[in-house]
Amino acid sequence: GGDRWDQLLTSYNVKQLLDSVDAFLFDCDGVIWRGDVLIDGVSETLDFLRSLGKKLVFVTNNSTKSRKQYSQKFHSLGIIVSEDEIFSSSFAAAMYLKVNNFSEEKKVYVIGGEGILDELKLAGYTGLGGPDDGKKTVELKPNCLFDHDKNVGAVVVGLDPNINYYKLQYGTLCIRENPGCLFIATNRDSVGHMTNLQEWPGAGCMVAAICGSTEKEPIVVGKPSTFMMNFLLQKFNISTSRMCMVGDRLDTDILFGQNAGCTTLLVLSGVTNASALEDPSRKIRPDYYTNKVSDLKRLFLN
Ligand code: PLP
Ligand code: CA
Repeated sequence: GGDRWDQLLTSYNVKQLLDSVDAFLFDCDGVIWRGDVLIDGVSETLDFLRSLGKKLVFVTNNSTKSRKQYSQKFHSLGIIVSEDEIFSSSFAAAMYLKVNNFSEEKKVYVIGGEGILDELKLAGYTGLGGPDDGKKTVELKPNCLFDHDKNVGAVVVGLDPNINYYKLQYGTLCIRENPGCLFIATNRDSVGHMTNLQEWPGAGCMVAAICGSTEKEPIVVGKPSTFMMNFLLQKFNISTSRMCMVGDRLDTDILFGQNAGCTTLLVLSGVTNASALEDPSRKIRPDYYTNKVSDLKRLFLN
């Protein structure tokens, strides 16, 4: 980053930005797509950046899909992105366990989607819970005793549209009663585009439920955590001073890039609108801002 903040991207400074950067880290929702709909001009812009020799990496906090499913989503939208260019918070959860030598003998209870279970399995772990537990119910009879697996050593919480009292009790008992059980949150986003036209409650509210019942704080593995960044950096041989993080959220994406010393570009095609930039109490300031990703190409060719 430079010493100036909140600079509107123009045909003058875009050249300076592109010269100073070897890799772009792209947030997905609000930058590449909104829900399942591609944002205008993205495909051509990614081709343009690749033609300049830029490395492209995609970092999403949405844990509902695995890297493989994200690669398929990109393909279905006409963009070729390989699995090893994608860092999802579902993958980050599995990699957190790997990096911290979590034993494959222990199990992982998941409040969240198939994407987390898939990534855990690929990393050699046994996941319990997930979508299947959405059908389970609890009967609150006076003498009922809820049984949980004492061999669960970690609970992973992400967005779960079928969260219920069964899952809350299961996760809570593991964290409160299994010695040393980890509490991992994929992300804490307040809202997400579960559908194309509207925002819905995000993983933040599911994580908050387990914080409430356990009185513990989670280890967050998605943006803005340094775990996600350090893990990603170790896969690519690029200095953060030559990277630009592009995102639509100040408290996840821009903070994530800024903490690592990346140049940051805020796009207004997602959850942050231009009026947020006028808020005098705002603490997180991107180096640059612009309407959408395709401005990188349009302004450069201007
Ligand atoms: N979590 C959920 C459940 C979402 O639906 C979304 C966006 O749709 C996000 C997180 C944020 O994803 P990203 O980091 O790609 O903006
Ligand atoms: Ca986003």
